[in-house]
Amino acid sequence: MTATSIDAVSARAAAIAPSATLALTARVRALRDEGQDVIGFGAGEPDFTTPEPVCSAAIEALQGGMTHYVPVPGAPETRAAVADLMRTRNGIACTGDDVIISNGGKFSCFLAIQALIDPGDEVVLPTPAWLSYKPMVELAGGTLVEVETGPESDFLATPEAIAAAMTPRTKLVIINSPSNPCGTMYAPEQVRALADVVAAHDRAWIMSDEIYDRLVYGGREHLSLGSLEQVADRTITINGLSKTWAATGWRVGWACAPGQGGAVVKAMTRLQSQSSSSITGFLNPAIVAACTRTDEEVEAMRCAFEQRGRLMFEKVSAWPHVTCPPPGGAFYVFPDISSTFGRTSPGGRKLASAATFAEALLEEASVAVVPGESFLGCGGNHVRLSFATDEASITEGCRRVHDWLEALQG
Ligand code: GLU
Repeated sequence: MTATSIDAVSARAAAIAPSATLALTARVRALRDEGQDVIGFGAGEPDFTTPEPVCSAAIEALQGGMTHYVPVPGAPETRAAVADLMRTRNGIACTGDDVIISNGGKFSCFLAIQALIDPGDEVVLPTPAWLSYKPMVELAGGTLVEVETGPESDFLATPEAIAAAMTPRTKLVIINSPSNPCGTMYAPEQVRALADVVAAHDRAWIMSDEIYDRLVYGGREHLSLGSLEQVADRTITINGLSKTWAATGWRVGWACAPGQGGAVVKAMTRLQSQSSSSITGFLNPAIVAACTRTDEEVEAMRCAFEQRGRLMFEKVSAWPHVTCPPPGGAFYVFPDISSTFGRTSPGGRKLASAATFAEALLEEASVAVVPGESFLGCGGNHVRLSFATDEASITEGCRRVHDWLEALQG
């Protein structure tokens, strides 16, 4: 960017880095368009097609003429269907009035943070964490307070560490379980302990990003923070179609915040009315279909992810120079690759960081992984691999990485 073009945009826009996950997804697409045989472990995106009842409902609504404006927070029956799901599956006491549907879970997070954070407010975030939370907090003028975690604790923050990070200025604690990028999750007793810590701070809200709540493995149980009495009136639960319903391109997410007279949902609705207006109108019936008629399809995809996660973990654990906790939820493994730093790749590149590791791997072995620096904390020692892809690609991609690691020098 030239000095002139930097001057043209606001300081806010100039300071924001593009999403590294989306940039990598675009790069893999471009390399494949050029004819390269790239194995993509980058995108956190299911390879399945959205379940048929969801697609049919959207097509019927479109063909039936549902092409006009819809209510800003979503049609009443859509909000009611989401609320039913949140009540029955997640144990969150709510009605449709407590739900706002937005253009993707990412925009739901963005609006929630805009609705809550004033300049000077502190936002506590266990790291490594999904890379968009930090820019969202900064765009709202908030100050991010990181609670660093590591593989020795399965990347889970202890209640003591969260308590130590909280101050009278803490307005929000962000919890993302199961975690992107770590692939681990809090057990129910750990969720309860976190809730107790936040409950001791009158001002603090929780944004519980539960976009992977139905993708849990090994019989693990997901407990929603918003179902716990001590924090129910100040928890915003985020979810959406993208991951569970293999619908990343639909851009449908939602937030559920029953507490305090619906103040947060109302604020998010005002913000949405002045920005995107609403989701695409004819997606409303599709959301109802997703919430009410897809249990079998969702479970079949979860089983496939569980199988793929086992396969990828087995392969990654056998890589030389690498350590990795097993995946408990979401569809990521997050191995520590720092013991390769200082070595030289087969193509002659000096490995000095997760970024140089990922770049060399893509260039030399045609395997795309996300370098962990943008996930903060110890992320710079890790790369993220998504197993939301078929087993043949997992086997072949992991073999390529294995051979490439074995050929490192130094
Ligand atoms: N959440 C997915 C990922 O982490 C999609 C890309 C993004 O929004 O960051 O890969």
